[in-house]
Amino acid sequence: LQRLRARLARSNTALGKALLSLLSRGGLDEEAWEDVEDTLLASDLGVEATTELVESLRSKVKVEGATDEATVRGWLREDLLALVDPSMDRSIASSRVAGRPAVVLVVGVNGTGKTTTVGKLARVLVAQDKDVVLGAADTFRAAAADQLETWGGRVGVPTIRSDRDGADPASVAFDAVKAGAEMEADVVLIDTAGRLHNKVGLMDELGKVKRVIEKQSPIDEVLLVLDATTGQNGLRQAEVFGEAVDVTGIVLTKMDGTAKGGIVVSVQRKLGVPVKLVGLGEGPDDLAPFDAEAFVDALID
Ligand code: GDP
Repeated sequence: LQRLRARLARSNTALGKALLSLLSRGGLDEEAWEDVEDTLLASDLGVEATTELVESLRSKVKVEGATDEATVRGWLREDLLALVDPSMDRSIASSRVAGRPAVVLVVGVNGTGKTTTVGKLARVLVAQDKDVVLGAADTFRAAAADQLETWGGRVGVPTIRSDRDGADPASVAFDAVKAGAEMEADVVLIDTAGRLHNKVGLMDELGKVKRVIEKQSPIDEVLLVLDATTGQNGLRQAEVFGEAVDVTGIVLTKMDGTAKGGIVVSVQRKLGVPVKLVGLGEGPDDLAPFDAEAFVDALID
C-alpha cells in the first residue's frame, strides 16, 4: 500500500499541487475557478464530475469564506472520495462457486496490457494459495499465447492454448474452463483478443466466446482492461465493450507515469462498475487492488 501510494503520488502530483495552489491562493476569482476546472478536465475527470466538484467547492468557499490550505484540502478530499465512491464492491471472483472454478474473462483492446494483467493477476492469486488455470483465447495476436504461457511458467500455473495461430478463441476458452473444472481449480482466467477494427466484429467474437463458455459454466467476472493514458479514447473503448459484454470491473493499466488519474471517476461513471485493479508498471508485482482512499490521498498529497 505504501508503495502504491508513493507511485500514485508521483504520477498525480500534477493534479494535487496545481489544485491546491489554485484553491489556497485566496480571493478566488472567475479566472481562478476556470483554472481549477481546466486542471480537473486535464486529468480526465470528465465534464460532469468536474462541474459537480467545482460547484461543491465554490459553494463551500462562499459559505465559509476564503480559507487556509488544510481546510481546502479537507474539502477536496471529501468531494473526490465521494466521486470515486468508496462503497463499490471491488473484490474479484476467484473462489470456487457451487463446486466449480470461478470464471474470469479479461477483455480489452490489444496493447492496453491485457495479457500482462492476466499474468500479474495470476501471480497475485497464486500468492493467495489459489489454484489458477490460464486460457490463451487471444488467438489473433501471434505471440499472445506464448507471452501468456511464459507468465504461466513463471507463476507456476498451467496455460491452456491452441497450437495453431488463428484458432477459434471460443474453443480455447471452452477448453480452459473444462481443464479448470477437471483440475478442480479455484479460478480460470481467460485472455481474449481485442481487435477494435470494427465494433460488430468485436461484439460477434466476444459474444461467441461468452456463449460457448456458458454452455459449461456461468461467467463470474468480466474485467475490462483500459490504458489510463489514452483518455477519451479509453472511454470510447469502455462504451463499445460495455455494449458487447456485461463488464463487472475495470482494470486501469499504465497508471504509473500519467497525471490522468481522473479517468478512474469518468470510466466508473460511464460503465457504472468499479475500477478493481490498477497497473503500475511492467514488472510482475506491478498490479494492485484499487483503494479509493489511498488513491484520493495520493491525488491531493
Ligand atoms: P495486450 O495486447 O493488451 O495483451 O497488451 P500486453 O499485455 O502485451 O501489454 C502491452 C504493453 O504494455 C507491454 O509492453 C506491457 O509491458 C505494457 N504494460 C502493461 N501493463 C502496464 C502498466 O501497468 N504500466 C506500464 N508502464 N506498462 C504496462
